[in-house]
Amino acid sequence: MAEGEDARRAELSANLARVRDRIAAAARAAGRDEQPRLIVVTKFHPASDVRLLAELGVTDVGENRDQEASAKAAELAHLPLVWHFIGQLQTNKAKSVVRYAHTVHSVDRPALVTALGKAMAGSGREDRVSCLIQVNLDPAASSGRGGALPEEVPALAELVDGTARLALAGVMAVAPLGRDPAAAFGRLRAVSEHLRERYPEATMISAGMSQDLEAAVASGATHLRIGTNVLGPRPAVR
Ligand SMILES: *Cc1c(COP(=O)(O)O)cnc(C)c1O
Repeated sequence: MAEGEDARRAELSANLARVRDRIAAAARAAGRDEQPRLIVVTKFHPASDVRLLAELGVTDVGENRDQEASAKAAELAHLPLVWHFIGQLQTNKAKSVVRYAHTVHSVDRPALVTALGKAMAGSGREDRVSCLIQVNLDPAASSGRGGALPEEVPALAELVDGTARLALAGVMAVAPLGRDPAAAFGRLRAVSEHLRERYPEATMISAGMSQDLEAAVASGATHLRIGTNVLGPRPAVR
């Protein structure tokens, strides 16, 4: 058992080092002084992996299903981890998500903003939950990757900004499948710039996964969501 854990720690440590090198190289290539922040996406992987990651210096973790995330966050509540909710979110899960999430990356419709506001009001939390507006970068395709249309972002931003206990923190996107991620992330950067004219504090750009982190860093991503290249392939069964 301890041996298996040592092997897993070594594997995660090596993977993390490779990903951090890639991020550093991409930031250098883009002439950026500040490195984007790494969020390790731990969905489908056990809480024991999240604990090992914390021991290896990971501070931010991402999850996309409330049931799984809430169980892990409860089990690991003693660790100084920042939990990011990155998946499509049903309004009836808002109450649960605000028990552990520091940032919700997938705010994509008015009903969810209302639900998050209500959930925060009833949560006893004194702080604000950070909200990123998820932007659909491929409106033509019915790729099902989610998000608000770019033209819907201003109204959604106003709603988040006007809701108590929600902090408008920026934008998030997933690159369209099978298309040039650089072009898509360029569109996301434009949406972010437009948003920041009105809300200068909404500086977060959450973009970039294992396959496209370089393109995201080149387009100004401030937060990268990396799963597979740190943890290995996700178990196929869910
Ligand atoms: C799973 C997931 C990721 C991580 O993807 P990898 O390809 O495993 O790095 C990032 N963002 C979202 C929204 C995800 O659901």
